[in-house]
Amino acid sequence: MMPLEFYRNIPGKECCQCGAQIIEQHESYHSECEHCLSKVEE
Ligand SMILES: [Zn+2]
Repeated sequence: MMPLEFYRNIPGKECCQCGAQIIEQHESYHSECEHCLSKVEE
């Protein structure tokens, strides 16, 4: 198996608010995408 395919098979997290796929970042413990997180802060 190619390393690239291995990473592709990892299911991405989905935003619990809008269902958008969340790109893993340093704040990966959030369950919302950046867009929804900015809304919550209001
Ligand atoms: Zn969202």
